[in-house]
Amino acid sequence: MEDFEVLQAKIAQYEKENKELKFRLEELNDFVENASLPLHWVNAEGIITWANQAEFVSLGYTREEYIGFPISNFHEDQEVIQDILYRLTNNQTLLNYPARLRCKNGDIKHVLINSSVLWKEDKFVHTRCFTRDITPLIQEQERKAELINELEQNETKLKIAIESTNLGTWEWDPITNILYWSEECRNFFGYPAAEQITFDAFSEMIHPGDRSTVLLAMHESIEPGNGKTHNLTYRIYRLDNNEMRWIKVQWRSSFKTDRYASLLIGTTLDITDVKYAEEKSEKLAAIVNSSNDAVISKTLNGIITSWNDSAERTFGYSAAEVIGEPILKLIPPDRQEEEVQILSRLNKGERVDHFETKRITKSGKTIDVSLTISPVKDMDGKIIGLSKIARDITERKQEEQRKNDFVAMVSHELKTPLTALTGYLQLLLMRSKKEGDEFSVKSLIRAEAQTKKMVSMIHDFLSLARMEEGKLQIERREVELHPLMIEIAEDAKFLTSQHTIKLIDCEGIIINADRDKIGQVLMNLVSNAIKYSPEGGLITLGCEKQNGKVKIYVSDQGIGISPGDQKRLFERFYRVNNNGIKTVPGFGIGLYLVSEILRYHDSEIVVESEEKAGSVFYFYLQTLS
Ligand code: ADP
Repeated sequence: MEDFEVLQAKIAQYEKENKELKFRLEELNDFVENASLPLHWVNAEGIITWANQAEFVSLGYTREEYIGFPISNFHEDQEVIQDILYRLTNNQTLLNYPARLRCKNGDIKHVLINSSVLWKEDKFVHTRCFTRDITPLIQEQERKAELINELEQNETKLKIAIESTNLGTWEWDPITNILYWSEECRNFFGYPAAEQITFDAFSEMIHPGDRSTVLLAMHESIEPGNGKTHNLTYRIYRLDNNEMRWIKVQWRSSFKTDRYASLLIGTTLDITDVKYAEEKSEKLAAIVNSSNDAVISKTLNGIITSWNDSAERTFGYSAAEVIGEPILKLIPPDRQEEEVQILSRLNKGERVDHFETKRITKSGKTIDVSLTISPVKDMDGKIIGLSKIARDITERKQEEQRKNDFVAMVSHELKTPLTALTGYLQLLLMRSKKEGDEFSVKSLIRAEAQTKKMVSMIHDFLSLARMEEGKLQIERREVELHPLMIEIAEDAKFLTSQHTIKLIDCEGIIINADRDKIGQVLMNLVSNAIKYSPEGGLITLGCEKQNGKVKIYVSDQGIGISPGDQKRLFERFYRVNNNGIKTVPGFGIGLYLVSEILRYHDSEIVVESEEKAGSVFYFYLQTLS
């Protein structure tokens, strides 16, 4: 009986305890279910068997979408979940294991997993995994890393920029008076790399004339509110070789409080070369501006880029009016092609010196100018523009004109009496021949030859004067070459007794030319052959037919011409400066006329010569037969 009571009491006790246990279990269940920390269970097959409310809220799935599915479906990194499962099935506990979970909306959550396994009678029941969301923390870290990265990149960029500009950098702490110089800065000052620089040593290096300005500016920039950028260019003496250099300094003051600056941070650049170049170009500009000649530069497209004071005086335009304008503005319409020709000459490496032409001023007046043009080249030697020096030669031209007029008038006036004189001489000659007066015949032949010489000289002067005025007229006709050549050869024979004059191969050739002018050309060549062969010898006048053309030549066995002189022979008034021929009379216009007359005939005079051996002058003309 007593046993039964005891038993009943025990049962009652058990029931009570059981009730309490049940209650506690429910409480525990409720706590776990509603705990704020997400929690899930995973069985031995890796399937989620249970998860609390916080887990659903955190990842956004419903119970149906989550429970019963493999845990790997919700992990971003498969190797991570495999590692977790391996560790847990091997009875390891996970403490703050980092992983990434995939939310329903596609977001990725960074979590730390704390997990252990429930074993029952040595059998794996399930894991119990708590996940702690650390996404905001990770994002914060990523942002910080990005910022640091950006900062580092900017610093690198700044460093590269400073290095490429060869800028020196410096800092000065006005409180401690400590000065810091970068390597470049030390190089500018010639200061030893290893030695600490002091502010006093620095101020010692500043040029005495600039020192107070520099120190004052630096000290003033410390004052409260003086946060602008300061610029200063001053002279220093390098410590190593005492050489004077120009440096350009920029700095800003850094204010931690609204009181005095705690740091000056700046850059330094050695600008000595620029400064000297500036001084040089200022000097050059002064020279250009004080020049009496107009100095103009222009681009290859013909746009004016510089214009000095004299250009303004010569052409009437101010620099402001013409810079940026086309140069064609100054060139008369019939000379606009000149620019292209000049450029092609320069491109061939030729010099264009004293090129005489005409230009138009602002008031529309045409002036005579002499141009000297040089190419402006870039570093690679490519022509990028032209610089022109233009001299107003209008007055000189007018003076020349007056001289020309005078020469033309005198020559013209001399021609008439000379023609009469020739006529009388020929009459007298005929009479003397009839009378058999040998002495008179000889004398009159000489007199006639001298008169012819004079006529041909006057002829040349007249031609020159006409040519200068652009009035030389060429009247082309069909001309039989042989009779003309005979005439020249016969006349030449009168001029000399020392030379043999020979004519070859000119029969049956007809040319289209101005007979008188070609006669003048030949006469000049032949009389030169005589004049410059003082020892006599053979002079040949000859023709060679060559495909529709005839080569006409005059050769001699005279003194010859040096290669240097050959180049200049056809210039107006050019005479060879040679002791041996100082006494030979002449004006240096014969070959100039020859080359000009032939130019009018679309031909060109050529010389081949060897000193002390002789010369050949030749040219080509079109033939009609
Ligand atoms: P000029 O004979 O009046 O001096 P030109 O113009 O005819 O002038 O000739 C120019 C120069 O060329 C001459 O001064 C002379 O030195 C040289 N010259 C011309 N023809 C010959 C020649 N056949 N042989 C050598 N020198 C010559």
